[in-house]
Amino acid sequence: MTADPAIEHLDTDILILGAGGAGLTAALHASDRAPGLEITVAVKGLLGRAGCTRMVQGGYNAVLTPPDSLEAHFLDTLQGGAWINDQELAWTLVTESPGRVLELESRYGCLFDRRPDGRIHQKPFAGQSHDRTIHKGDLTGIEIMNRLTEQVWRRPSIRALEEHRALDLLQDDEGRVGGALLLDVRRGAFVAARAPATLLAMGGGPTMYRVIACSADKASDGIALGLRAGARLRDMEMVQFHPTGLVVPGSLMTGALLEEGLRGAGGHLVNGRGERFMTRYDPARLERSTRDLVARACFTEVLEGRGTPGGGVLIDVSHLGAAEVEKRFRGMVRRCRDFGRDLAREPVEVGPTAHFMMGGVVIDTACRTGVEGLFAAGEDAGGVHGANRLGGNGVGESTVFGGLAGDVMADWVAGRERPGVRPAAVAAAARRALLPLGRGRGESVYPLLARLRDVMWDQVGLIREGDGLRAAVEAIEDIGARVDAAAVPDGLVYNLAWQDWLNLRSQVTTAWLIAQSALARPESRGSHYRRDHPDPGRDLYVVLAGYAGGAGPRVWTEPVKLTRLAPEGVRPSATIEVGD
Ligand SMILES: Cc1cc2nc3c(=O)[nH]c(=O)nc-3n(C[C@H](O)[C@H](O)[C@H](O)COP(=O)(O)OP(=O)(O)OC[C@H]3O[C@@H](n4cnc5c(N)ncnc54)[C@H](O)[C@@H]3O)c2cc1C
Repeated sequence: MTADPAIEHLDTDILILGAGGAGLTAALHASDRAPGLEITVAVKGLLGRAGCTRMVQGGYNAVLTPPDSLEAHFLDTLQGGAWINDQELAWTLVTESPGRVLELESRYGCLFDRRPDGRIHQKPFAGQSHDRTIHKGDLTGIEIMNRLTEQVWRRPSIRALEEHRALDLLQDDEGRVGGALLLDVRRGAFVAARAPATLLAMGGGPTMYRVIACSADKASDGIALGLRAGARLRDMEMVQFHPTGLVVPGSLMTGALLEEGLRGAGGHLVNGRGERFMTRYDPARLERSTRDLVARACFTEVLEGRGTPGGGVLIDVSHLGAAEVEKRFRGMVRRCRDFGRDLAREPVEVGPTAHFMMGGVVIDTACRTGVEGLFAAGEDAGGVHGANRLGGNGVGESTVFGGLAGDVMADWVAGRERPGVRPAAVAAAARRALLPLGRGRGESVYPLLARLRDVMWDQVGLIREGDGLRAAVEAIEDIGARVDAAAVPDGLVYNLAWQDWLNLRSQVTTAWLIAQSALARPESRGSHYRRDHPDPGRDLYVVLAGYAGGAGPRVWTEPVKLTRLAPEGVRPSATIEVGD
C-alpha cells in the first residue's frame, strides 16, 4: 500500500471528535448559539452508544440548596485532588454544574430522581462534605445520553458521522489545527474533515491497563492526537483506579464497575478473613474515604495475602435490606445476577479497576488548548480533578466543559477562514495509518497489547516505584517499536485488527506519558502512590508533557498556581525538575 490513498473531503464550521457527554453537549451548545453553523460530530462508535458517559451509574455533583455551598464543593474537589488541580477549572466546574443540571432537565428533557417534596434527590458520595450527587437510580448516564442524543438528531445543523474514527489532526504550515483526518470504519475510506475549530472530546480512557472499567472502545486517542499536534499535557501520572470492579474469574466482566453509591449508602468492604479492613486505612471515613485510598487498601489486602480465593475483596450491602438494595441499585443488582451473584443478599467479590484519567490536554476556562484552532473538553482535558477525581465530578466535567466549548467555538469561528492544510500533509497522515496493512509477515497486535496491559498494571498501576517505572518505560518503548513494525490482515473495510493496531498506537503513546510522568513525581499524592516515596512532599507541582523543543516528547514540572485557595503548610514548588 504505497500509492497515495484516496481521500474524500468534507468542510464544516466546527468539528467535534467524540460523542460522549462532552461532544454532544458541545454540539448542542454550538448549534443553539449559532444556528447557521454546520457542526460535524465524528464518533468511533454509534451516536449515543459509545464512550463512558453512557456508563455513568452513580450520578452528577452539583450544589442545589443550603447547607451545601459552592465553596464546600470547591474545597472537596481540591482536597480530593490533593491540591494540584487547576483551581480556575475546578471553580468553573463547581459554579457551572448547577446550571447545567437544570439545563439537562428543562432544555434537553432529562428527569432525575425526586424527593417526596418534588425537589431533586441528592445522595452521598465518597469524599464529599454534603449529599450532592444527582442521579436517575443507578443508570444516570443512560438518561443523560439518551436525551442528549435525541436532541442532536433533532437539529439539522448537526451532522453525525458514526463509526468515523479520528486518526490525526490536520495542521497548516503555522501549526494551526484545521480539522482532522477521519477513517470511515464501515467503508474503510479516509475523510479529510476541514474546520476552523476542532474539539478533542474522545474521553481519554486508561484502556492500556489489564483490568478496566471504562468503555473498551476508547484508546486515549485524544491524548495521542493532541500531543502529536503540539498541545501540552498535564497530570498524566494521575490514573484513577476504582476500588469496586467486579471480580469474575475467567470472564470479561472482570473490572466492570459496582458504583460508589454502594459505599456511600453504607456498604462494607471485608477481606478474605471477614475483617472490615478500612478501619486500618481510614478509621474516620472508612468505606466513604476517597477512591484512591480505598482502591489502594483493597489492592494491599490482596497483595498481603488477605484477599479472597478469586484475588479480590468483598463488598457487602446485604445489611441495608434486600428490598432497599433492589430498589436503589437496580442496575447493579441486575449486573451481578448476570453472573450468578445476589448483591441484595450476599457479599460480592470486587477489586480495583482502571477507571479514569485525571490527566489530559492543558486547557483554559474557555477550553482552548495552546494550539490555535484546537479545543478540548471532558476526560481528554486535564487539570479539573488534580490528583484524584471525586465520584460525580466526571459527568459534570464533560457536560459543563462540553457546553462551554460549544459556546466558545461558535463565537470563535465567526468570520474565520479554515486553515490551509496541504494535501501532502493529509496524504502523509493517511499513509501512517495504513502502515501495518499489506506487510504480509509481522508480529500480531494482540500479544503486544497483552504485554502492554501487564506492564502497566504491574509496574505503573496502584503501587509504583522508581525501578519498576524505569523498567516500564523501557518495555513500553520496546512495545512501541514492535507496534510500528507489526502487521495486520489486509482489507480496509471493517478491519477490526487494523482498528486495534490504531488503538494500540495511541495506547502506547499514552502509556509512555503515564510512566514518564510517574517517574517525574517522586512523592505520593492522590492516586499516584510511590512505594519508594510513600509520603507527599512539601512542594506542590504539576507534571507537564509535550514537544517543548527537541525531537521527542518531554516531561517536566512546574509549580502549581494556587489562584484561589492554599492548603496549610504546603507551598507551590519554585523549582523546575526533570526525571526522578
Ligand atoms: C463505569 C463508569 C461509571 C462512571 N460513573 C460515573 C459517575 O457516577 N459520575 C461521574 O461523574 N462520572 C462517572 N464516570 C466517569 C464519566 O463517565 C466520565 O468522566 C465522562 O463520561 C467522560 O465524558 P467524555 O465525554 O469526556 O467521554 P466519553 O463519554 O467516554 O465519550 C468519548 C467519546 O469519544 C469517542 N471516541 C473515542 N476515540 C475516538 C476517535 N479516535 N475518534 C472518534 N471518536 C472517538 C467514543 O466513542 C465516545 O463517543 C464513570 C465512568 C465509568 C467508566
